[in-house]
Amino acid sequence: MQFKDVIGQEEVKRKLILSVQENRVPHAQLFLGPEGNGKLPLALAYAQYILCPHRTATDSCGVCPSCQKISKLTHPDVHFVVPTTTTKSVKSNPESDLFMTEWRDYVLQKEGYVDTSSWYEFLEVENKQGYISVRDAASLLRKLSFKAYEGEYKIAIIWMAEKMRVDTANKLLKLLEEPPEKTLFVLIAEDQEELLATIRSRTSLVKVPKIELGDLQKALVARIGCTSQEASDAAMIAEGNWMKACQNVKDAEDQKYYFRTFQQWMRYCFKAAINELIDFSNNIKTIGRERQKQLLEYGLGIVRNSLLFNNNLAQLVMLPDEEKKFNSGFAPFVKPANIIQIADLLEEASRQIERNGYAPLIFLDISFKMTKLLRMK
Ligand SMILES: [Zn+2]
Repeated sequence: MQFKDVIGQEEVKRKLILSVQENRVPHAQLFLGPEGNGKLPLALAYAQYILCPHRTATDSCGVCPSCQKISKLTHPDVHFVVPTTTTKSVKSNPESDLFMTEWRDYVLQKEGYVDTSSWYEFLEVENKQGYISVRDAASLLRKLSFKAYEGEYKIAIIWMAEKMRVDTANKLLKLLEEPPEKTLFVLIAEDQEELLATIRSRTSLVKVPKIELGDLQKALVARIGCTSQEASDAAMIAEGNWMKACQNVKDAEDQKYYFRTFQQWMRYCFKAAINELIDFSNNIKTIGRERQKQLLEYGLGIVRNSLLFNNNLAQLVMLPDEEKKFNSGFAPFVKPANIIQIADLLEEASRQIERNGYAPLIFLDISFKMTKLLRMK
């Protein structure tokens, strides 16, 4: 990971780089800031910068063996401590060393942008809370007592330091107070309140703010190929959190998908296009049960909005323009005489799918009933 791979955070990067160039890197630092702002990518880029023998004024070289090892998270002088818990494969005494393969795969897959919920999901322990065990502190103590293998420095990156238990923190405190030579600690935390005051007081604070709106937008366009409109919609409600911004893009795509699909389906119903409805119902099995239910749910929303349109309350309909236009065209076909039946039809179908009903038959059945109801005079 190079600094150029970290989204935004120019001010933090500048300070970190300067500390290396002026040879005044504090031996223990706390990267503190909200979730999703790229604290781990910054720590990785920083470690890479410190250990790179060919660093420039702005970044590590990215190609030397040291840089390559760090970007694969396999550098022998860069150690990780992360929250862990018991899993299917580790049934007792969890500690970071037992999860390094998973951690590497996870971080590389996420390009460094990590959070506890997706980490626990990756470990398939969604409902358990991880912690940093005293075994982690002991292991770190052991590893740091050796000389650096390759680089000048040994670097310990402690992710989610607030997950340390008290005994862990106390053991680590000793390390922070009397650090082995040429050792750097980067602690990463999101919740200052949960972090022991003694740990806070022994680390030098690096505040990492939210990612700025403009930087988020640019990254969405560059990294996941959004249009600039999609990027600004998604970034606006992401609170400076990269993962949230990506999720917003996905949600918007899903919404658009349900809209297009529902619109197409209703067009067939209006036209009573029997062959198309048979094909549509048959193909519906490919999208899976969850999306079938979401599609029906989307349709219910359109029916509910129709009531608003029909009662001159269009301003209450919260939909993107294109969907709103479709909905206002659909509304006149939803009448007091059929609205209950239409809504029942969609709800009942959803229940049948929930109970493992055969989707093509269920959709074919609603299609025919819907055709009749929509064409009702
Ligand atoms: Zn390098």
